[in-house]
Amino acid sequence: MKKIAIYPGSFDPITNGHLDIIIRAAKIFDKLIVAVVRNVNKKSFLDSKIRVQLIKDVVKNLNNVCVKEFDGLLVNFVKANKANVVVRGLRAVSDFEYEFQMALMNRKLYPEFETLFIASSEKFAYLSSNIVKEIYNLNGKIDCLVPEPVANYLKSLKNQK
Ligand code: ADP
Repeated sequence: MKKIAIYPGSFDPITNGHLDIIIRAAKIFDKLIVAVVRNVNKKSFLDSKIRVQLIKDVVKNLNNVCVKEFDGLLVNFVKANKANVVVRGLRAVSDFEYEFQMALMNRKLYPEFETLFIASSEKFAYLSSNIVKEIYNLNGKIDCLVPEPVANYLKSLKNQK
């Protein structure tokens, strides 16, 4: 049986920290599905279609990784894709409480559901999509924080203004 895992998140936008988790998780599983949460409200920075497109571009050389959009309950998406493992990245202690709560709740909703936590690499432990957005909005350099297609896309947005 193929080992299929889901890596869910907003990826608004995908950062080098996310990419590091994707590369490491792809080595553990036969197939990794990066699941992008669709815009539940208008609060996201980039539209989900753009977020999906950027991730596809970033992972194009990783053969066992694909990208999908989803909404609704994660357990339903997990079942529909015949997966039973969800990968989450863990940065400092700040991620732990929320992640632990989600993992337990998901297992309550679907007992076969397992959450695999991958510890962030040291160099990305401080990195989040929110920090990238803040730096970008203040005209700071984001090239070393996000994959190249994302940096290029964000720069093109600024040039349109
Ligand atoms: P959310 O699910 O809260 O929208 P994100 O889209 O920001 O979160 O991130 C998706 C997953 O990636 C989460 O498990 C988050 O902890 C993890 N993650 C985000 N940034 C990093 C990073 N720099 N290093 C490791 N894991 C990360």
